[in-house]
Amino acid sequence: MKTDVKEIFGSNVFSDAVMKDRLPKAAYKKLRATIDAGAELDPDVADIVAHEMKEWATEKGATHFTHWFQPLTGITAEKHDAFIDPQSDGTTLLRFSGKELIKGEPDASSFPSGGLRATCEARGYTAWDCTSPAFIKETPHSTILCIPTAFCSYKGEALDKKTPLLRSMQALDVQAMRILRLFGNTTAQHVSTSAGPEQEYFLVDKNMYLKRKDLIFTGRTLFGAMPPKGQEMDDHYFGTIPERILEFMSKFNEELWKLGISAKTQHNEVAPAQHEIAPIYDQNNVATDHNQLVMETAQRVADEEGLKCLLHEKPFAGINGSGKHNNWSMATDTGENLLDPGKTPHENMQFLLFLAAVIRAVDEHADLLRLSASTPGNDHRLGANEAPPAIISIFLGEQLEDVVDQFVDAGEATSSLEGEEYVSGVHSLPHFKKDATDRNRTSPFAFTGNKFEFRMVGSTQSIADPNTVLNTIVAEVLCDMADKLEKAEDFGMAVHDMIKETMAAHKRVIFNGDGYSEEWIEEAERRGLPNIKCMVDAIPALTKPEAVAMFEKHGVFTQAELESRAEVLYETYSKTIHIEALTMIDMAKKQIIPACIKYQTSLADSINAIKAATPSVDTSVQESLMSDIASNVKEAFGALKELEEVTAKAEAVDDVEAQGHYYHDVVFAAMGALRAPADRLEMLVAKEAWPFPSYGDLIFEV
Ligand code: ADP
Ligand code: MG
Repeated sequence: MKTDVKEIFGSNVFSDAVMKDRLPKAAYKKLRATIDAGAELDPDVADIVAHEMKEWATEKGATHFTHWFQPLTGITAEKHDAFIDPQSDGTTLLRFSGKELIKGEPDASSFPSGGLRATCEARGYTAWDCTSPAFIKETPHSTILCIPTAFCSYKGEALDKKTPLLRSMQALDVQAMRILRLFGNTTAQHVSTSAGPEQEYFLVDKNMYLKRKDLIFTGRTLFGAMPPKGQEMDDHYFGTIPERILEFMSKFNEELWKLGISAKTQHNEVAPAQHEIAPIYDQNNVATDHNQLVMETAQRVADEEGLKCLLHEKPFAGINGSGKHNNWSMATDTGENLLDPGKTPHENMQFLLFLAAVIRAVDEHADLLRLSASTPGNDHRLGANEAPPAIISIFLGEQLEDVVDQFVDAGEATSSLEGEEYVSGVHSLPHFKKDATDRNRTSPFAFTGNKFEFRMVGSTQSIADPNTVLNTIVAEVLCDMADKLEKAEDFGMAVHDMIKETMAAHKRVIFNGDGYSEEWIEEAERRGLPNIKCMVDAIPALTKPEAVAMFEKHGVFTQAELESRAEVLYETYSKTIHIEALTMIDMAKKQIIPACIKYQTSLADSINAIKAATPSVDTSVQESLMSDIASNVKEAFGALKELEEVTAKAEAVDDVEAQGHYYHDVVFAAMGALRAPADRLEMLVAKEAWPFPSYGDLIFEV
């Protein structure tokens, strides 16, 4: 059956078109004023919207509604309520009020709050975010109206990812508008940020997945010898997509299109069994909600198709992991992209000022950006030989770097490099002008034409965190720039000088070379750029006094909120490693070691049987194997004991920061010591004797 894309696209969204069609004109206008300009919503309008939303949703088969929110777990949360309103005659009406739409009160005490409230303080509120459209989540067994909401405590502190993101978007709006007004722009009313997240993921066979406790409990493999072939032939990237995967992708796309998510690009990624999906970019907050739905839908559809979708940043050691490229830009409500250089960037002072602001923000707050991409899983990628390094640098490309150089060296820029003609040497191939700049895939923060691509983000992460940081640090710099420029006597001169000075002061963060090379690590150190190697080392950036002052100044986070988030991050790290350690212990004790002993016994039995039948036959092969296995089992057993001991001691470390370091330095290291002999054992015992599927089975047999 062919899919009618136009028919299904957005069919499960209470979109602008649906609202325009179904709401009375006056109510629609008032709601739009709230969505577009943040005007306060009139309770009567909420009642009308709620009623129409319910009508629309029940026509589509919905029985329940939910306030859909994003607690600090990084995934989404929902609690379903039926629309029923039982009557005295034993029947029921279906109702949904404005009050229920606007405010929810989940007993949400079990979400992480980082000490913001005690477990006994259960009251939390969810508040309707009308800037992200309501939608219907349709699964084989339920149809639920989902209302995107923000989640806060009784005292009003943010307990979610959405609230700070929305605050940061507001902050950037205010500061960017000040700059635009100075440039004489009188028509734009707002500046909003956009994001286009490219999502990487793995697909493995569900039956194999279910045989691996590590995948089930931790999302990644904790053991596994390298198969004879990995990704070295580069034959998976952009390769022809196998039929089974295409079947998944087509269903995945359909589900996303129904949700109004503009799934656009799909391809095989570098690692075997790895793939990517990219939607068309959207307003920051909507893109964030959509990315959560992309991850959730991928997992659901995979499951329905007999597959499992792995979103972990590093499911397989030695094979490329998954990230999420967060494409980010700023645009006015009149449609002007503030990061569009135009044809002659050297003359485009407004663009150059915004560019300078981003460069300065990234340089001054590199530690915060690094933190915003920190997850326990991403620790396996950043700084390894595949993902961007842990050092934040900016790739501008030849054209813009040349403009920056002109400013820094000569005090002004007088020309812009142009793309040359494409010459293939074949008459029949088309001729066109190339881009003025090549790409650089190793840069963590790359300018790609009219947007920046933040490439450090982990594949499991909500993009709310990196975007909240990006928006705030850029707002902070724009604020400082506006403070100075508003006082300037000669605006043109002042802008020119500011661009020059900013570029000169922050040029150190620009790097167009190979970010994966050893030389860059040394060079970055000479330039004084921070190289923060792991998540636990990155967390303190969030609560240092300068960061607290900045986030408070722009109303994005209070000090208490920042401290609570730092605590949640430490706890997340420790709990993750704790679960991984326990899973390794479980697998080693109950599966690997018993399997090896059993195999040794079978070798011994074989020696005895052979010796009994023909004493002269040489059994030295079995004996040599037995001895290799014995020494590795002994090593594994010792490492297992050590891992059990150090894991048991972790509880006693009571400070969250110290505990995070303990898990990183002690427990994580002990996990490595157990893995090494276990992976050698996998290569020593027979395939049938090994208790779970190998890497080769998992990544080549989908
Ligand atoms: P590239 O090939 O340069 O990475 P693509 O066209 O493949 O660019 O886009 C990658 C992602 O960036 C897509 O999700 C796309 O919609 C998004 N994107 C494009 N323009 C912008 C923009 N101005 N702001 C944010 N994201 C954008
Ligand atoms: Mg890209």
